[in-house]
Amino acid sequence: MKSAKELGECTICKSSFKALWTQLLPHIRICRPRTDLCWQCQQNNDQLISSANPSERKTAEIKKQQGHLQLVQKERAVYEMTAACKKTCDDYQLSIGPSPPSSKKIRMHYSFDFAQQMHFASNPLQPGPMYFLTPRKCGLFGVSCEGLQKQGNFLIDDGLS
Ligand SMILES: [Zn+2]
Repeated sequence: MKSAKELGECTICKSSFKALWTQLLPHIRICRPRTDLCWQCQQNNDQLISSANPSERKTAEIKKQQGHLQLVQKERAVYEMTAACKKTCDDYQLSIGPSPPSSKKIRMHYSFDFAQQMHFASNPLQPGPMYFLTPRKCGLFGVSCEGLQKQGNFLIDDGLS
C-alpha cells in the first residue's frame, strides 16, 4: 500500500484540519454534547410554531410542552441520585466482587437492560460453511451499578430463554 506522500497527497495535523474546516465550511458543524433536542421537544416546538397566535390549539400545545418539560425535570433527578450513589460508593469504599455478607443502610441505583441477541458458532469443530450458517443465539442481560460505574453481564443461552 502506498503512503499518502507517494500518492501525492499532503497531510496536515488535526488542528490545521479543524481550522481549515471552520474557515471553508462554516455551515457544517459537528453537534456539541447536550445540544441535541429530544424528539418530543422537537415535535412540540414544531406544533407550537405552526399554530395560530392566540388560539386554543396554541394553549394546548404550550400545556403539552410544559408537561413534557416537567417530566424531563423528574427524569433528570435520576442523574442527581446517580451522583449521590457515586459519593456513597466513595464514602464506603464499595467495590464489585466477592465479599463477606454485609448489610449497609445505603441507597444504590442499578439499571439493567436486555440487549439484543448475540450469535456465535454452535460447534467450532463443524467443517465447511455450515459453521457460519447455524449460529447459536445468546441473550445478553446487563446490570449496571451506577455508583461504581461497573456492569455485570449475564449470558443467557438460547435453550434457557
Ligand atoms: Zn424533550
